[in-house]
Amino acid sequence: MPEGLIQLAPPPDRSNGRFAPSPTGPLHLGNLRTALIAWCCARSTGSEFLIRIEDLDNERRRPGSAEQQLGDLDAIGLEWDRPVSVQSEREGLYGAALEQLRSDGLLYECWCTRAEIREASSAPHGAPTAYPGSCRDLSAAELAVKRDSGRRPALRVRADSAELSFFDRVHGQMTGTVDDFVVARQDGAFAYQLAVVVDDAAQSIDEVVRGDDLLESTAAQCWLQDQLGLPRPSYVHLPLVRDADGQRMSKRDSSATLAGQTALGHSPQQVRSALACSVGLCEPGEELEADQLVSRFSSILVESAE
Ligand code: GLU
Repeated sequence: MPEGLIQLAPPPDRSNGRFAPSPTGPLHLGNLRTALIAWCCARSTGSEFLIRIEDLDNERRRPGSAEQQLGDLDAIGLEWDRPVSVQSEREGLYGAALEQLRSDGLLYECWCTRAEIREASSAPHGAPTAYPGSCRDLSAAELAVKRDSGRRPALRVRADSAELSFFDRVHGQMTGTVDDFVVARQDGAFAYQLAVVVDDAAQSIDEVVRGDDLLESTAAQCWLQDQLGLPRPSYVHLPLVRDADGQRMSKRDSSATLAGQTALGHSPQQVRSALACSVGLCEPGEELEADQLVSRFSSILVESAE
């Protein structure tokens, strides 16, 4: 079995898939590898593959990034169906979901700063990243003082440390505890956790393929799906690609991008083959057409896990 092979449990019957980059810089090779596998997962079951630009974070988005990312995906042959969707153009959907949570009594206002949360969470027994609940049960008088402060609150969900289980095709059955996470930020932006769940359902995504840095967020997303009455997609969380020093790849390392690889003399086709090779889809030096990769994917990755 080739080194680096990612083993997957059998696919769901339908697997409309997507790749959902944040336009914060060029895609690095790790992002491109995730996109390649997401595309193979969708295409190997004859399903649609969509691209969604997740641009709700004003501070982190970079002008021109989305266009560059689409250009790179196109260059390595990952064609997509339907027009590219852009989250900043879909805010009405997120607002409606927020209203549903509010009318179900599942939201509360939170004025805590990051520093306050860090300080309160480092108390014994507090999980390092868990929200300590400081604003969860404020009295009417306390609320009035906070509201008079003039600072805008974030909105958190009342998740009551719910335990949620979901199945991941790489990691198997997973269980996570759901913190009172933020669904609308202090700056008024809808949070990623809310937008991703609403969009995946609205776009009929059956399978979410992404990097395993988001594995921990998945229980929270499943919790939201349950509260909003949305279907649960199947999940594939892929290991992140590391650089030669074992560090997570960064968009700041220019040689780890398609443009950087092209400057070193590697064609997009060669880069795609190298990415495919790193998950055991082809042998070093072997170059496969996009449709050949899809049939290799079906026969190698899936069978090996059965
Ligand atoms: N926009 C996220 C990112 O670029 C990915 C979100 C997802 O695939 O669910 O990291």
